[in-house]
Amino acid sequence: MPIYNAPIDDIKFVLHDVLKAESHLSTISAYEDTASADLMDQILEEGAKLCQDVLFPLNASGDHEGCHYENGVVKTPKGFKEAYKLFSEGGWCGVSADPEYGGMGLPALMNTVMQEMICSANMSFGMYPGLSQGAYEALHHFGTDAQKQTYLPKLVEGTWSGTMNLTEPHCGTDLGLIKTKAEAHKDGGDAWSITGQKIFISAGEHDLTENIVHLVLARLPGAPEGVKGISLFVVPKFLPNEDGSVGARNEGVSCASIEEKMGIHANSTCVMVYEGAKGWLVGEPHKGLKAMFTMMNAARLGVAMQGLGIAEIAYQNGVAYAKDRLQMRSLSGTKEPNKPADPIIVHPDVRRMLLKGKAFNEGARALAYWAGMMLDISEKHEDADVRQDAEDLVALMTPILKAYLTDMGFEIASEAVQVHGGAGFIREYGVEQYVRDARIAMIYEGTNGIQALDLVGRKMPKGFGRLLRQFFHPVMEFIEENQTDDKLQNFVFPLAKAFGKLQQATAIIAQKGLKNPEEAGAASVDYLRQFALVSLAYMWAKMAKVAQEKIESGEGDQAFYQEKVQIAEFFMTRMLPEADARFKMVLAGAEPLMQMKTEAF
Ligand SMILES: Cc1cc2nc3c(=O)[nH]c(=O)nc-3n(C[C@H](O)[C@H](O)[C@H](O)COP(=O)(O)OP(=O)(O)OC[C@H]3O[C@@H](n4cnc5c(N)ncnc54)[C@H](O)[C@@H]3O)c2cc1C
Repeated sequence: MPIYNAPIDDIKFVLHDVLKAESHLSTISAYEDTASADLMDQILEEGAKLCQDVLFPLNASGDHEGCHYENGVVKTPKGFKEAYKLFSEGGWCGVSADPEYGGMGLPALMNTVMQEMICSANMSFGMYPGLSQGAYEALHHFGTDAQKQTYLPKLVEGTWSGTMNLTEPHCGTDLGLIKTKAEAHKDGGDAWSITGQKIFISAGEHDLTENIVHLVLARLPGAPEGVKGISLFVVPKFLPNEDGSVGARNEGVSCASIEEKMGIHANSTCVMVYEGAKGWLVGEPHKGLKAMFTMMNAARLGVAMQGLGIAEIAYQNGVAYAKDRLQMRSLSGTKEPNKPADPIIVHPDVRRMLLKGKAFNEGARALAYWAGMMLDISEKHEDADVRQDAEDLVALMTPILKAYLTDMGFEIASEAVQVHGGAGFIREYGVEQYVRDARIAMIYEGTNGIQALDLVGRKMPKGFGRLLRQFFHPVMEFIEENQTDDKLQNFVFPLAKAFGKLQQATAIIAQKGLKNPEEAGAASVDYLRQFALVSLAYMWAKMAKVAQEKIESGEGDQAFYQEKVQIAEFFMTRMLPEADARFKMVLAGAEPLMQMKTEAF
């Protein structure tokens, strides 16, 4: 039986000791009352209980049972409706939503924390409220007052849910090819008639809520070709009445089928058909894609948390199994003489796999929560310059987090299967589900290859390196401040070396990419990984410094802080060297990829 224990102590360490979230956020007037460490802990502990006791017990059963489709109706697996009721009644759909619409108004950072735990406990479940949050953000940013009044309170209380309809059969990455059209509605007024087919729509149809609010990309009459001619529409499954209640069925909206798929079986992935459905424009005409992309940072950070969430639960189950399973004797001599063999956790290779999970999870958590906190600062800080700097950092780190955390979510899940040996491949033990569930996060919300292109093509050159400076400067400052501290040599020295190579790689890509964009494209994935590893090294160096300070002061749980130093050492010696290899791949350039003729493949 799989287990999940929310890593509360590790989360608190990052929130309070490393990021000092209260001191950064409670000075912002919007968070004056909601960013105290006590309140964060209270939310964290309540959220952890919900994830462990309500969502997690439905994870394996939801995977086995999946969603069922019949005549346009989708049934979620047993227990999901009750769990969703508890979830929404507890206010969890609106953790960081605007109090004006019924939200808790907590920092988005707390949402990031919740997303991690929800995705560990039950990623499929988490996608239902996750998609609603995307719809909430779109309407909150771009909706008219009337649209906000109609939809936001319902999305926040969770009685209505949301979806994002971008993909069509012939286009996923290249949304400029969208064909769904909006025409004047026969009823007149401000409604549009939406016609087209959308595929792979998560939570497009289900039985958890009384209404579903679809956000749909479509083209207005005479719209320019390509991405500059796409508009965003709100298309509800049931038309809202004047008093806000659910009205008549929006006749043109239907779910034609759901997909059979590799993982996230308990989340419905729908073919949505719009045949003259009633929809209303959200934001300006032809600016739909821009509106979608404005919310991308938050949405992509959400998907990054799926990677981390899965890696965390996979790691936990790997550890539990490795402590229990007895095979062979330790190479350094018997450890458990009263047992027929030693537990496999004594073996160096098993430790390598588990420590990779632990070092990734804790480093990635620090990086993601840092981005979550900067997202709050970028939106709510009173000082426009501070907001801009934070926005630049978030924009830079978003593709790195999305791609690296989801790539590693899959890898760590696969390592957990390996730790289990044959049992890992068997359903009953539960870990094979994590591999299957993790795989999609590398694909949706922009494939990881596209994230890498976003990093080298958009984020790197923007403002002549303005975004890069938001990361490079604090790293340089940290290195300068700590390079003479003997206790930090094991961390600052490798960080400085890897950071130097990252700067070199950046300069090389910028130079070569200007002459030949294929050079930037060819380097992109390796550069992103190199960047991610240096980012985690920075986080681990910071965490090691905090832990050393606690050890020196004798404050708190000393074993806990000693362990942090040891994991930091593992990261620097066993994971960071990959950045060197990635650097070499960046240097290899485009030729090895592009010289071969297509016919030769
Ligand atoms: C389970 C599931 C849930 C989903 N949920 C939603 C949802 O809720 N809403 C929604 O709108 N969509 C959703 N999607 C769709 C998803 O976002 C797309 O599948 C994804 O964006 C990729 O598009 P595609 O499948 O058309 O692949 P393609 O765009 O055909 O890409 C195929 C491959 O080519 C690569 N590629 C394409 N162009 C380039 C390029 N220029 N440079 C380098 N590589 C390139 C891609 O990286 C990828 O590896 C979902 C998909 C799945 C499977």
